[in-house]
Amino acid sequence: MINIKEYIAPESIEKAYEVLMSRSNNLILGGCGFIKLDCKSIDTAIDLCNLSLDYIIENEKEILIGADTSLRELEINNIIKNYCGGVISSGVSYIGGVQLRNMARVGASVFSRYGFSDLLPPLLVLEARVRLYRGGIINLKEFLDKEYERDILLEIILPKKEGVAVFDCLRKTSGDFSIINGAMFKGKDGDYKIAIGSRPERAKLAVKASEALKDGINIDRALDMAAKELDFGTNIRGSKEYREDMCRVLVKRMYDRVGDYCDR
Ligand SMILES: Cc1cc2nc3c(=O)[nH]c(=O)nc-3n(C[C@H](O)[C@H](O)[C@H](O)COP(=O)(O)OP(=O)(O)OC[C@H]3O[C@@H](n4cnc5c(N)ncnc54)[C@H](O)[C@@H]3O)c2cc1C
Repeated sequence: MINIKEYIAPESIEKAYEVLMSRSNNLILGGCGFIKLDCKSIDTAIDLCNLSLDYIIENEKEILIGADTSLRELEINNIIKNYCGGVISSGVSYIGGVQLRNMARVGASVFSRYGFSDLLPPLLVLEARVRLYRGGIINLKEFLDKEYERDILLEIILPKKEGVAVFDCLRKTSGDFSIINGAMFKGKDGDYKIAIGSRPERAKLAVKASEALKDGINIDRALDMAAKELDFGTNIRGSKEYREDMCRVLVKRMYDRVGDYCDR
């Protein structure tokens, strides 16, 4: 069971960060989906609810998603649904049930960099950036490659892009974690981005396969390239070999779907 000694909801991000850093067992609360499953003692739990971080807004060049936005909001918000084929809405719609998606927050989901995340592959192919209180704005790809550092994720920044993207995954049953998942983006100019997650490590871009597709390589060769350039592992959901094979299947399925979109 989790034991929280003190709960605060600071009025400023500076205060939230100061309290977070003042003790190693202080932490930021998201929707508490995972925190409440833990068994530890927390000195001060910091709620971001007073910092106005629950928003999805757009300007000419970008879409901004606040860290306190729920996954359910990502699923149903019209800006996100109409952005690049609705790939983000599609990815998060697989996560648990509506109750869980109402509770789980974007900031927690991205900052925690879960290997099984159904949100990270879409964000990677869309070249999202993250705004961290201490670390500033960095590319999501760079953030995922970095060593873990305590910080507060404030916002996700999506560049407005011309193109479509699709999400796909393989799970034993709905509500379970993905055995493997992925997203593919196809831009107006024929550029591709492929990301594969639940390998079971966190999502990663298949850079060589993406570039080869742009250069017109045959899809059968591109999916072999993707399976070879990414590394896979074994856990209770699937073996390394199975994941490698299924990566090929996902890449082919996503390629067919983005093709269909673009030909419309
Ligand atoms: C039963 C269950 C099934 C799930 N299935 C899936 C699935 O199939 N696919 C999938 O992608 N996800 C799945 N998830 C994960 C879910 O989507 C969320 O990512 C997860 O619950 C964390 O979000 P939260 O808001 O609940 O975070 P919390 O549990 O509140 O926090 C998680 C961690 O993030 C930290 N944190 C919170 N907010 C911030 C912030 N702004 N900045 C920095 N650190 C922060 C917290 O301190 C904590 O360490 C599942 C979760 C549960 C509980």
